[in-house]
Amino acid sequence: MEGEARERVDLTLLRRHLCAATLAAFLCAAGFSFAAPPVAAAAPGISDIRAWTNEIYTRVAIDTGDEVSWQANTLRADPARGLPPRIFIDIRGAGIRDEILRKPVEVRNGLLRQVRAGRFGRDTVRVVIDLERESTYRVFALPGPFRIIVDIDGEGEIPALPTTPDAVDTPGSVAAAPSSEDPAAPPPAVAPSVPPSAPSGGSAVPVRKHRVRVMIDPGHGGKDPGAVGPTGLREKDVVLAIGRRIREKLERSGEFDVRMTRDDDVFIPLEERTAMANKGRADIFVSLHINASPNRRAEGFSTYVLSRGASNREDLELAARENGVPVRKLQGVKFIIDDMFTGARKNESLRLAKTVNDAVVRHVSTRYPGAQSLGLKQAPFYVLVGARMTAVLVEASFISNAREESRLRDPSCLDGIADGVVEAVRYYGQNGILAHSDY
Ligand SMILES: [Zn+2]
Repeated sequence: MEGEARERVDLTLLRRHLCAATLAAFLCAAGFSFAAPPVAAAAPGISDIRAWTNEIYTRVAIDTGDEVSWQANTLRADPARGLPPRIFIDIRGAGIRDEILRKPVEVRNGLLRQVRAGRFGRDTVRVVIDLERESTYRVFALPGPFRIIVDIDGEGEIPALPTTPDAVDTPGSVAAAPSSEDPAAPPPAVAPSVPPSAPSGGSAVPVRKHRVRVMIDPGHGGKDPGAVGPTGLREKDVVLAIGRRIREKLERSGEFDVRMTRDDDVFIPLEERTAMANKGRADIFVSLHINASPNRRAEGFSTYVLSRGASNREDLELAARENGVPVRKLQGVKFIIDDMFTGARKNESLRLAKTVNDAVVRHVSTRYPGAQSLGLKQAPFYVLVGARMTAVLVEASFISNAREESRLRDPSCLDGIADGVVEAVRYYGQNGILAHSDY
């Protein structure tokens, strides 16, 4: 694989790919084509390689669809051969789309140099991630559809930027600084849904040393309606409405830089939502969902943090449903919870989750007395795996409960839920509980 011809892929197109199109589609459209041995039709194959990256963080997703056997390893830099440190993932018995084969995705942002793939031996495909410098990493797989996720952490080895620390903390300038030096650097925006005001720097309002950056994640969307209530109310629509309310209320204060993983009825894979929050250097990640149960009398609000398992069957079934996999798949997944990203934020996430849940129930209760709190909980939600920031997932009542479904049709109830989240986030922001040292 070494010494192969390397084509530079325009990062603007790569970013566009990250939002919607596929890399394969781009490569096809750009006219690349390579002769490759035919792949047996029955063999599972790499259908796509996706990446989200900034100068201290990268997530790479390798899509295979069907479950494959894989192994990850590293190679140290070999200066004599001009080779950088490398992470490689060998996937056995797999094919690879010709469009992806041996076509490196160049990034060169100080952390990641490029991602490339090729055949290694008779029945193995090797995906190689060329790093700019030694970095820690985690690899895990998610089922349904099967994909291998590589999280690379460049924290602690951040190259000095030619700006003052205060300037770096000013909204917009973190990403703007490198882009002035390198046209291939990532932009401030992580998605088209970023509010237009975000990159402005907020010079018209009194700006704190840094504004707390919040990523709101309305669950589901597009082809995935989420849970559906007895009269047809869809979770994806409710959580988007709540998310927009939260954004509006938080932005009103001028203290927060608020982004959303989606601001439309679009489908976004779970691992991409987390990657958007990490890439956008969010301080807080709030994933919004509505619960559902075969027991139509189930009711109440709960807020979750990530954990390896669940304390009861209901929470396990909830996580499986939110993850889009059967419970048996969920139990079989061995992803790393106490990893370098999530572990350090666990206590903050627990505190924020409790504050959010208490505040949401209190605000909804002023309009609907008797709103139930199911409290702070923990379960293995994929969307929280690998989040580098304080991260919680809200299950704002049961859409399967006729009374709670009708409540969710009431804008004042959605306002109450949003007010609760906003109050908790503001409390955290104002009390400086959140760690910013890594940004
Ligand atoms: Zn959901």
